[in-house]
Amino acid sequence: MIDTIMQRLGVAETLYRDGNYAVTSPTDGAEIGRVQLEGRGQVQARIDRAQAAFESWRQVPAPRRGELVRLFGEQLRLHKEDLGALVTLECGKIYQEGLGEVQEMIDICDLAVGQSRQLYGLTIASERPGHHMRESWHPLGPIGLITAFNFPVAPWAWNAALALVCGNSLLWKPSEKTPLCALACQALLDRAMQEFGDDAPRDLSQVIIGEREAGECLTDDPRVPLISATGSTRMGREVAPRVAARFGRSILELGGNNAMILAPSADLDMAVRAILFSAVGTAGQRCTTLRRLVVHESVRDEVVERVKKAYANVSIGDPMEGSLVGPLIDSQAFEQMQSVLQSARQQGAQVFGGERQLADAYPNGYYVTPAIVEVEQQNELVRNETFAPILYVLSYRDFDEALALNNDVPQGLSSCVFTTDVREAEAFISDLGSDCGIANVNIGPSGAEIGGAFGGEKETGGGRESGSDVWKSYMRRQTNTVNYSRELPLAQGIKFD
Ligand code: NAD
Repeated sequence: MIDTIMQRLGVAETLYRDGNYAVTSPTDGAEIGRVQLEGRGQVQARIDRAQAAFESWRQVPAPRRGELVRLFGEQLRLHKEDLGALVTLECGKIYQEGLGEVQEMIDICDLAVGQSRQLYGLTIASERPGHHMRESWHPLGPIGLITAFNFPVAPWAWNAALALVCGNSLLWKPSEKTPLCALACQALLDRAMQEFGDDAPRDLSQVIIGEREAGECLTDDPRVPLISATGSTRMGREVAPRVAARFGRSILELGGNNAMILAPSADLDMAVRAILFSAVGTAGQRCTTLRRLVVHESVRDEVVERVKKAYANVSIGDPMEGSLVGPLIDSQAFEQMQSVLQSARQQGAQVFGGERQLADAYPNGYYVTPAIVEVEQQNELVRNETFAPILYVLSYRDFDEALALNNDVPQGLSSCVFTTDVREAEAFISDLGSDCGIANVNIGPSGAEIGGAFGGEKETGGGRESGSDVWKSYMRRQTNTVNYSRELPLAQGIKFD
């Protein structure tokens, strides 16, 4: 299957067959490819080439740059099923979610094409006669992209589509767990570049296959003015100071610990469906996965009962075969989940589910029943992101207490409230409400749309990607004052003769 998919996506066999590093599928642990890890020298040579490509690409008019992204979007449309299947095969999310990830890539391409004609600045009133001021936006340079295993294609595209129309070249270090998806995206972009013609320089976009050392070459190099890094908070803690030490910029998209406040007035049918999708989808391996349910004490028992019933009906199995829950990424993720559940039990929490499934059929695939853990307090275990399907349940009495619980974790990515009380809904998204980058009303915390800015506060890193005015992150801002008079007045009324 892998050979057919890779062939259709246009990836040369030598790139995914001849390397020194085995790539396995979480579905069954089988090897699906071998890639060649790159050393420091190779990464530096790539940065040299990305610099040269940038110098040429920035001269291409922005709407023409948009045409390349449009062609790339067309390639994605043509190959949506193959790329979606590859995402499923390599990272284990179910096929519907694999397709959804590719759709997000298509959506951001559409947004970026329009944006390529809208890279606008301001005109600003000058205090001096015969002067005007304006703000201009210029391309930045080679952009370093580091991505996580659980979204192996879409976050790259969120960055890449905008960075390209903004006139930058790209250096992408994907997760070492999902390099084949990166090779496939590059192959589709190469096809779009061929169709586009000669004004797209050859090394406009490059993939760096490597582990954290390869990522460090990017973070440390002053020729890479912006590092956009998606992954764990641990990774962000390492990346951020290294980039800051050379005064580079970073966009950090790190871990989440997302809550739902479920009020007594809520539509419980909607809430239960939202809980199921957002806690169990992608086997709990989304940055926006629902990890904490903060439910009003008057409806707690009913809600927990209904969620347990819904969990019991969830199909677990091969992500290509129509199940709703696929495998965890690897044995380490499984062991981490088990150790957290064990600690919860020791602390007196009620644990429902969490057992390994299908071990006989897939001795090297780690499938689990999603777990529900009823806790009394928001302790250290709950405050930590465990990247697995564990839903903690806490109860509250008054809304302020629920808001305080929502905010009392180190992460600040996504959050939501289910209520039909307009005062609670408005309070949740007010200045005094949720402290997260994403705060939703009557919709779960995961499944963001491209049009908005995506990202979070606190230990989630503060970065924003995708829509709204995020394109500005990939450009440098310049303030211009132009004197069209024959005088030279100084600002602030200063006399200097
Ligand atoms: P990870 O932190 O282990 O790895 C992410 C990437 O960082 C990989 O490419 C890895 O090689 C690289 N890396 C690790 N250490 C590095 C270093 N010191 N310097 C440079 N590069 C380094 O994360 P993961 O296990 O692949 O992904 C899961 C995590 O990512 C979860 O915490 C999840 O919440 C988070 N995530 C966040 C978002 C978001 O948008 N906020 C999206 C997806 C995933």
